[in-house]
Amino acid sequence: MLDFSFFMPTEILHGPEVVKRHAKRLKEFGRKALLVTGRNSARRSGAQEDVTAALEHCGIAYEVFDQVENNPTLENIAEGGRAARQFAPDFVIGIGGGSPLDAAKAIAVLAVNSFGPEKLYDGDYTNRPLPVVAVPTTAGTGSEVTQYSILTLTNKQTKAGFGDRSLFPRLAFLDYRYTESLELEVTRNTAVDALSHLIEAYLSRRAGDFSDILVEAGLRLWSRALPDLKSAAFSSGMRDSLLAASTFGGMAIAHTGTTVVHALGYPLTYFHDIPHGRANGLLLAEYLRYNLQHAKSRVGKILKTLNLKDIGEFKELMRFLLPCDLRLTAEQISEYGIAASRTKNASHTLGEVSSQTCIDILQSSLG
Ligand code: NAP
Ligand code: FE
Repeated sequence: MLDFSFFMPTEILHGPEVVKRHAKRLKEFGRKALLVTGRNSARRSGAQEDVTAALEHCGIAYEVFDQVENNPTLENIAEGGRAARQFAPDFVIGIGGGSPLDAAKAIAVLAVNSFGPEKLYDGDYTNRPLPVVAVPTTAGTGSEVTQYSILTLTNKQTKAGFGDRSLFPRLAFLDYRYTESLELEVTRNTAVDALSHLIEAYLSRRAGDFSDILVEAGLRLWSRALPDLKSAAFSSGMRDSLLAASTFGGMAIAHTGTTVVHALGYPLTYFHDIPHGRANGLLLAEYLRYNLQHAKSRVGKILKTLNLKDIGEFKELMRFLLPCDLRLTAEQISEYGIAASRTKNASHTLGEVSSQTCIDILQSSLG
């Protein structure tokens, strides 16, 4: 018997020059927009210029908050919240990688709710967040189609996400040209985040018929981009496929959530400054190996779609794309493993995830 549900309220407009072609759509959201960006990439990618031209064309006033850090902290978000309350926009436009997009969602809440950023985690906001429009400039997080925002909690020394249906962007403009300014390393790191979302959604307790369809299509797109990812000679077709793969991965995790891979990746980012996608990629091979006992045929399908003969070859691929000499001590492995086993992400993983499961994955990956 079929038994499923699926909710994905973001309208996706994908294609070259999509912002210019659909500029008028921005009028639907009001007369004042706050742009939320990182320090450079929104401008460097050309996305900000296209968005501001579209806003000017529509007669929409705007201000820019361009102070979003990588892996934004609550303090950084509070700063954006203050800027938003002062300007009082009708909507928020996030431009950049996952960091600015996640910040845009959090700021959309704080713009109309006068509470501190730690309350973002409580959900059920008194005032409905402002609408968010998302313009990704990395092909990785899929944040443009998720209800999640992942922030850094300095007091807890970790990263943690919150999610609320009201945080799905209303509109996502996907133009691969904005990802062309990405450096090789960031291209690979973020591409592996997209792969991680696809794999985790497929090997999740919450996988369903719809998320499976998205994953299978996303993996095919990712695999199409793989030769260029390896050779570092990026074609526009590869950039376009990767951006779509990332959005498919985002739609899948919007449904399933992520798993213990993300939970184990957060301390690698927090304590060792490993970029998010790279952190996941370092753990993925051992996550596949763990899943052989629970979903062997699914692991086989993933490898087959990627044209890889076994998990060893997958691990080699990750080593090639993400060279890394990080080695963890036994104390670190134990500390990170125990913390990860207690997260909600861990509970989405197939099988019973104990602290020992997490320790074993970390040990085999980075011990
Ligand atoms: P990011 O932290 O947004 O950006 C990484 C770096 O890439 C930054 O230095 C950024 O510069 C630069 N950059 C971005 N686009 C560029 C472009 N087109 N050209 C040149 N440089 C560019 O990286 P990310 O991997 O996309 O996002 C990671 C964050 O997303 C993490 O916090 C992660 O936890 C979160 N995440 C969220 C979800 C979700 O569903 N919401 C899912 C997965 C991950 P600037 O600083 O100048 O912008
Ligand atoms: Fe991720």
